[in-house]
Amino acid sequence: MISAHSPFLFVLHTVLSIFIILHIAFEQIMKTITDLLLLGDPRLYEVCRPVLKTELPLVGGWVADLDNVMKEIRAKYGFGRAIAAPQLGIMKRLIYMNIDKPVVFINPKLSGLSDEMFELWDDCMSFPHLLVKVKRHQALTIKYLDENWEPQEWKMENALAELLQHEYDHLNGILCTMRAIDEKSFRWRA
Ligand SMILES: [Zn+2]
Repeated sequence: MISAHSPFLFVLHTVLSIFIILHIAFEQIMKTITDLLLLGDPRLYEVCRPVLKTELPLVGGWVADLDNVMKEIRAKYGFGRAIAAPQLGIMKRLIYMNIDKPVVFINPKLSGLSDEMFELWDDCMSFPHLLVKVKRHQALTIKYLDENWEPQEWKMENALAELLQHEYDHLNGILCTMRAIDEKSFRWRA
């Protein structure tokens, strides 16, 4: 018989308590799919503020949250190449992309937008079942700071260019629904 005061039960109780506390702490700290702002949330229509250099120590935590939620979206809906900070209520000019490797765009600026445009059915994690037909520039240059606050420049075309136009719009409170080509540019994805 193991008595209620046995060392074994004491250790078991302590280990379980620590596990439960850590689990609760993780759940409170780490953002999940339930933190994703959805179509109609007023925060999605706000213009985000630049990231300050003094906020650089916070960037790692923001990116970990964005990465976690994007992984959950991919697992649930099968899409998701990039996410903008405001989609998690982080009202900062920051984009996180992960296609073949993680890339953090801090305070991005778009330039050299090509005259040539193309049409596509766009999607968004903030309304995962809706597709919206929009027009995007075929090419652009994005200038930004990386996670080490180093200035970077990247010329993009086609799929990458339209992706970054979509994410950049989020930083200015613009959703692809607001760029629909016409009133029939909406399609439901089952
Ligand atoms: Zn989006």
